Amino acid sequence: MNTNIAMFIRCEDRPTNETISNEESLKLAVQAGFKRIFMSFKANHLFEGQYRKFYDLAKSYGLEIVFVHLGYQVNEGIATIWEEGTAGDQLVADYKRDLEIVAKDGIKMVCMHVTKSSKQSPMSKIGLKRWEEIVKHAEKLGVIVALENTVWPGYIEFILDNIQSPNLQVCFDSGHNHVYFKDGFDFKRFKNKIACIHLHDNDQSKDLHLLPFDGTIDWKLLAENLREANYKGVIACESGYKRGYVNELTPLEFFTEAYRRLEKIDDMVNLPTQVK
Ligand SMILES: [Zn+2]
Repeated sequence: MNTNIAMFIRCEDRPTNETISNEESLKLAVQAGFKRIFMSFKANHLFEGQYRKFYDLAKSYGLEIVFVHLGYQVNEGIATIWEEGTAGDQLVADYKRDLEIVAKDGIKMVCMHVTKSSKQSPMSKIGLKRWEEIVKHAEKLGVIVALENTVWPGYIEFILDNIQSPNLQVCFDSGHNHVYFKDGFDFKRFKNKIACIHLHDNDQSKDLHLLPFDGTIDWKLLAENLREANYKGVIACESGYKRGYVNELTPLEFFTEAYRRLEKIDDMVNLPTQVK
């Protein structure tokens, strides 16, 4: 049993995995041996969606929730955080509510997108002020806010350069880095700053969310980079049961395969201490 690995579960109405519901996905993760998950939201805030239902379900299976991926298509969308106006203010107020919910449930980390994928927002002062308000609130609550590399370059750097907080960290997404950044993530710059990871693979044509080793990512190099960056967190998967998998593997085989591949990456990142 490996407790250093985790599977992602979307906790909303629309299922992520073809042919199986999100509730079934949770069950399958347990059957495959996972002890940890991360709860993922896209279109809902925690206070309005099915957070409570999935939280209780996960707890009934004895699962630990390592972090919550907050929704980014919420309100009028994450892009409004960078723009003048009340929509951005409301978004901040609602994210603060989300943070309060996880803090109350003893969850110590959230990850967040910083831009909309179809729109490159201005790196504005108002945006920075809003991120600062979110991070200060997280500090008070004892929650880490990990900002994810999604599509556009420079935003994480801009926020981290301008807001100093131990609670402000980075979420490294291997698939986004491969397809949108051509593997350009600066692991040296973010040394000791990566708090969580989303592992999945693709062939650089699209963000396919394949299982690790099914695309063209150099996993050996990636494991070395994570080790060099002093990454000590959970090895978390963000792959989905869709496309070719549905014809090749049963749902349980897919989750079991995910478990096996994460264990392999865990071994690659966390090499046993060498005997001198
Ligand atoms: Zn991700």
